[in-house]
Amino acid sequence: MVSDYDQNLWKAVLEELKNTIPERLYNLWFKETGILSSSNNVLQIHVPNEIIAKKISEKHLQDIEKAVFKCSGSNLKIEMVALAPNIQQAMFDFEQETMPKLPEAALSLTPAPPSFPPPSLNKHYTFANFVVGHSNHLAHAAALAVARAPGVTYNPLFMYGAVGLGKTHLLQAICHDLMERNANYLMVYLSCEEFINEFINAVEQGDVNGFRYKYRHADVLLIDDIHFLAGKERTQEEFFHTFNTLYNAQKQIILSSDSPPSEIPELKERIVSRFKWGLVTQLNIPSFETRVAIVKKKARLRGVELLDEVCQYIAEHIVSNIRELEGAVNHLVAAADCYKEELTFEFARRALRDMITIHEPEVQLSEILEVVSRHFNVKLSDLQSKKRPQSVVTPRQIGMFLAKKLTKYSLQEIGGFFGGRDHTTVLHAVEKLKEGQAQDPSLRNLLAELEKEIFLAKKL
Ligand code: ADP
Ligand code: MG
Repeated sequence: MVSDYDQNLWKAVLEELKNTIPERLYNLWFKETGILSSSNNVLQIHVPNEIIAKKISEKHLQDIEKAVFKCSGSNLKIEMVALAPNIQQAMFDFEQETMPKLPEAALSLTPAPPSFPPPSLNKHYTFANFVVGHSNHLAHAAALAVARAPGVTYNPLFMYGAVGLGKTHLLQAICHDLMERNANYLMVYLSCEEFINEFINAVEQGDVNGFRYKYRHADVLLIDDIHFLAGKERTQEEFFHTFNTLYNAQKQIILSSDSPPSEIPELKERIVSRFKWGLVTQLNIPSFETRVAIVKKKARLRGVELLDEVCQYIAEHIVSNIRELEGAVNHLVAAADCYKEELTFEFARRALRDMITIHEPEVQLSEILEVVSRHFNVKLSDLQSKKRPQSVVTPRQIGMFLAKKLTKYSLQEIGGFFGGRDHTTVLHAVEKLKEGQAQDPSLRNLLAELEKEIFLAKKL
């Protein structure tokens, strides 16, 4: 945004110029000028096209500098910025003809101002922290290639995939990599929503040129979740021109989306086709092995070395979203820390129960019955009978307890399954074992062991 002070300064400078140069020349060169920005003693003036920029620079720079000094008391450097596209771009953008008239692209004669704020990034989203597997190796390789040679290999690079599969991570990894190796890149990284909001604000504040100037001077433009352009016609139009300007200048464009270009709803065909000009690559659901590696990596980032079986347990139960995988690791590490407990398989299972019950396979009553029967060496038919010797009663009660804990069956249904008993018998068994468990660590271990067996048996 241009401050009121700068606006007024330029008005005063123009008044001054009117007095110092012939009216005809003033009308020819200065009538459509305005202030674009001022920073570090540089005043940027926008002019309608390159010819005027050239003329003013050749003939009237000193007049302007003098007038600026007179009005502001400072010696400011003056830079001209032409707003019209050059001819090549006009040819390239022939499709513009079919569109409602917009002020043209901002193209600078001078180097772009270094006024980009550094992108705000998650420091962990680096290439080093990205686990590569079959599901993502193409996207990873493309991201790396683009980071190493922006504008040269794949342009645009379009990465798509479901939520939580690493799109944002890869975009930010490119930013980190670029920043590490060359701090001078003008890099613009933002979400599509931010892009839309900024554009709307620019329109409201009458500063569309400022908006264009900013985006069309990026060396690398990264927009996350570009599918949010769906249905936003005006922003699509603006984005289209930004895309063309950058592409034409061989600046790198990198986009992420939840679906491939042609499946983004209500997206103009000419944008869809441009998205396909470079490389379109997909991030898939990682395999079990990759998920285990990601769990390990995430734990290590938190300074914790997880047992293999714990990593595998998490990776088995959380399949389709790496963000949830990471959430599970965080939850687990925090819980172990909080309860000052060792992070064993059993602890992990308990701690993650709430998080991943929905993903746990549903336990069947028959599965509980089998594990109990095998463990106590009691016949299935005995467990389901009305027999009452202690050697059968205890295992049956344990079966009822586990059934209540691990399934959604009612007390009545469980009673029916274990030999046609009523719900009070089941309730009695459940309470007895709850109490016993609280007092007797060996019983607690036994129940935990059986639970584990039931889940392991399910996997086989
Ligand atoms: P998206 O943008 O696709 O929804 P994110 O990039 O936000 O997904 O990823 C979600 C979480 O999963 C992040 O914490 C990210 O670090 C992590 N993640 C995704 N893929 C990987 C991977 N291959 N290696 C390590 N972490 C990953
Ligand atoms: Mg994302």
